[in-house]
Amino acid sequence: MTKTNKKDKNKKKPAGKMPPNIKGSFLGNFIASVLILFLTISIYSYLGGSRVNEKISISELAKAVEFGDVKSITVKSGSIEAVFVDDTTKISTKEETSGIEEVLSAYGVTTEQLSKVDISVDREGGFLYWLISLSPILFPILFIVVFLWIMTRQVKGAGMQAFSFGQSRARLTAPDDQKQRVTFKDVAGCKEAKEELSEIVDFLKNPKKFFEVGARIPKGILLMGAPGTGKTLLARAVAGEAGVAFFSISGSEFVEMFVGVGASRVRDLFQTAKKAAPAIIFMDEIDAVGRVRGGGLGGGNDEREQTLNQILVEMDGFEPTEKVVVMAATNRPDVLDPALLRPGRFDRRVTIDLPDRSDREEILKIHSKSKPFAEDVDLTVVAERTPGFSGADLYSLMNEGAILAARENRTKIAQFDLIRSIEKVMLGPERRSHVLSKKEKEITAYHEAGHALVASVLPYTDPVHKISIISRGRAAGYTLKLPIEDKKLQSKNEFLDDIAMSLGGYVAEKIIFGDLTTGPSNDLQVATALARDMVTKYGMSENVGPMALEGSNGKTIFGRGLNEKEYSEQVSSVIDKEVSRIMKEAHDKAEKIINEHRPLLDTIAKRLIEKESIERDEFDSILVANGIQPKISEASS
Ligand code: ADP
Ligand code: ZN
Ligand code: MG
Repeated sequence: MTKTNKKDKNKKKPAGKMPPNIKGSFLGNFIASVLILFLTISIYSYLGGSRVNEKISISELAKAVEFGDVKSITVKSGSIEAVFVDDTTKISTKEETSGIEEVLSAYGVTTEQLSKVDISVDREGGFLYWLISLSPILFPILFIVVFLWIMTRQVKGAGMQAFSFGQSRARLTAPDDQKQRVTFKDVAGCKEAKEELSEIVDFLKNPKKFFEVGARIPKGILLMGAPGTGKTLLARAVAGEAGVAFFSISGSEFVEMFVGVGASRVRDLFQTAKKAAPAIIFMDEIDAVGRVRGGGLGGGNDEREQTLNQILVEMDGFEPTEKVVVMAATNRPDVLDPALLRPGRFDRRVTIDLPDRSDREEILKIHSKSKPFAEDVDLTVVAERTPGFSGADLYSLMNEGAILAARENRTKIAQFDLIRSIEKVMLGPERRSHVLSKKEKEITAYHEAGHALVASVLPYTDPVHKISIISRGRAAGYTLKLPIEDKKLQSKNEFLDDIAMSLGGYVAEKIIFGDLTTGPSNDLQVATALARDMVTKYGMSENVGPMALEGSNGKTIFGRGLNEKEYSEQVSSVIDKEVSRIMKEAHDKAEKIINEHRPLLDTIAKRLIEKESIERDEFDSILVANGIQPKISEASS
């Protein structure tokens, strides 16, 4: 399995804020209500339960007084408590207005008989009295009121939720937020991009200067570049340099389940930004909403189209005098709707390239701040060994290096921590536990030796940096080759040699073991795709000629409809023939090399089985010992 340094990464999009769990809080309130109900009932029954004394009528009481059976009478408003001689208490009632003496004498009790009874009038008052006497009415009412209150609060809450649904949810970084402030100093490389953007910074800082000479500042700037090249970082830096408010939202955050929400969020976002002007609106990963309209399958993209339309409307609708600049970022500019790119919208496009060697060194320097390094650390070497790395990759390389040092209980990061991290970032972590059987180990060793040998003999391939049969990520082993310098252009000869090298493992397995495994499947895919691209994209086949038969983005289902094949069946069969011819020739080339250098192949494979990995220096000396001149790369000189 060969690995080059091209990688594809899908950036995770930040998830939108979840609405609070309505169901959960409803359950909580319901339980609370039930508890209150129980409490009410128990208090009620407690108060009621204290009145278990026997009841007697006033006339019976009068008789008892006449017989002298009553010791004392306590009058509370409305009720009479009579304590009898035998210490029983009986209760009676009378009208509130008349006194107890009057009532009893009306029943024929004489004053003399009355005087034997101890009569006291208990004028109860105060809070507790009223509470107790009113509780039978009060508690149920209270209960109902509380219940209603909770219910209305719930409904209101849900109402508020619906209300805030259409709000933009953009994250605001205020201009005076020192903690989150990013400036151009934090962004290494990207010189051209910074130059372009400093114009915008200038405008946001001093708009008057521009208005006075009648200059129109672009409303929209589109940042384009591979994932991790620092688009988001750069947008923040523009806001930080200009010292303006920064509203940031990701394209996917516009899109909700309900049609129209995205559009209303866009409206809200622009309104808020205008109020906060001067400001920058930043729409990250705009391809989530900004794809070509009308090409979709099914009816699922109504919402996206509405959102996109709203963005277009808003961008047309504000004047340059508003001092609001819209920035957007994407790594798929090819799928964007042309309407977005029309003048007056995102007409300023800034491309951010992968960093070159000196930029990589700068980025490494930025991320090495506040990290303790051992003396042997040489960031230039790290930068040389990381062609094709993006800023984000370099950031994670630094971080992996620090983690390695910490795990081995060292207080300083050493050069070999960083070097090991390069491979980790490039290929994923080593899987030492993934033990190969003896046979598998042998096959893998010959497979990788085949790649390395073909790569070393052919003139147009990149030098081999490392061979290993320790599995990493999904690969059982790998041959690492790195370009001598950053390349912008690739030639036909390089492609042809690359294909032959990819087939080196396959050929070696076939020659040595007379059998094939599933190991080379990825190699075959890569090689075939490359051969196909040569024919259909780059015009590198004589029989098809200088024609680009496929777009740069290959097959886009959502992009431009289904029938993207724009050539005849005849041409199609010519393409197939050409691809298989290229593959066959590459195969024969690899086979010839391996047959010619059979002893060298054995040497490399044996060393691999023994040591599991061979670094560049050792590999080069093996080559020299066998009469092959190793490729000189600037990287190791
Ligand atoms: P993008 O938005 O292009 O996918 P980001 O801006 O999110 O990439 O970059 C991710 C991280 O990578 C940044 O937070 C930063 O730490 C690092 N990075 C990327 N490019 C650079 C650069 N040019 N200079 C310094 N750091 C960078
Ligand atoms: Zn391989
Ligand atoms: Mg980004």
